[in-house]
Amino acid sequence: MPEITGGTRLVGVMGWPIAHSMSPPMHNAAFCQLGMDCCYVPLPVHPDDLPQAVAGLRALGFVGCNVTIPHKQGVWGCVDQVSEDAQAVGAVNTLIPTENGWYGGNSDIPGFLWSLKEAGYDPMGKGALVLGAGGAARGIVYALAKSGAQVHIANRTVARAETLAAEITGLLPTAQIESLPLVPRALRAAGDGASLVVNTTSLGMWPHADRSPWPDGLPFPRHAIAFDSVYNPLRTRFLHQAAQAGAATITGLKMLVYQGAVSFEWWFDVAPPTDLMYAVCLQHLGRS
Ligand code: NAP
Repeated sequence: MPEITGGTRLVGVMGWPIAHSMSPPMHNAAFCQLGMDCCYVPLPVHPDDLPQAVAGLRALGFVGCNVTIPHKQGVWGCVDQVSEDAQAVGAVNTLIPTENGWYGGNSDIPGFLWSLKEAGYDPMGKGALVLGAGGAARGIVYALAKSGAQVHIANRTVARAETLAAEITGLLPTAQIESLPLVPRALRAAGDGASLVVNTTSLGMWPHADRSPWPDGLPFPRHAIAFDSVYNPLRTRFLHQAAQAGAATITGLKMLVYQGAVSFEWWFDVAPPTDLMYAVCLQHLGRS
């Protein structure tokens, strides 16, 4: 923990519950390494108290704040301006103070793209298969389509995939997005043309680590990169299936760390030590 002084600048994360968030340890480790007199605190905020909590941030002199489940949509009414990305996906996860009040941004989108770039993957002109059509899929499909990928969304409830495809196409008229059911025949066809397969379903998340959205018996496209938004456990069954087929893999922990790093840069205009932040999260996962 950094030493708290009279001049310590505060940032934090609002959620409900928030006790298990990895953001405080990863940001505080970065402050220590950079010698910054700052502290990142978990802020348990009941949904009924969100407007007062956001107003209180300014009164308490916070330099910025993250917002997580269940407030990513509710915080909308508490900010004065919203970024284009946050508006597109309907979710704010970072509050930045400005002269005109709070500015709401979404660092999940650049955080996801950063993890692809690190793996040497450029979505432009490529085929991407996204499994799932919930909240995480919304940001990921938008990020991929905006980066020029041709996206297939496969979801158990296909109507939800169709709605998501229509909404993102409404925002990005040149986007190429198709929807399909999460069944082996459809996945085989879409997987053949995909160089990236992303799991955005919650399948495989602890304590149900034996589950995967990729059907048993269907060969994983071995030339594709597999990305799993689930990060607990780190090595999910989905990533294991991909690795066994010879595919490269990216863990969801990368996205978690990079969204934090992007927020950090927005607040302080300083690049944080992402390797250290990743190591701290790994340690934290190991303990939980
Ligand atoms: P969500 O909105 O509840 O969506 C869940 C998705 O999983 C839906 O597409 C749902 O399909 C599908 N699903 C659930 N159970 C299923 C089953 N038994 N069979 C097939 N599909 C099933 O959840 P979310 O907010 O998108 O979160 C999804 C995952 O992303 C979570 O594990 C979360 O921790 C992770 N996440 C990670 C990061 C990161 O930084 N790495 C960021 C955000 C989220 P239906 O539509 O058919 O119900």
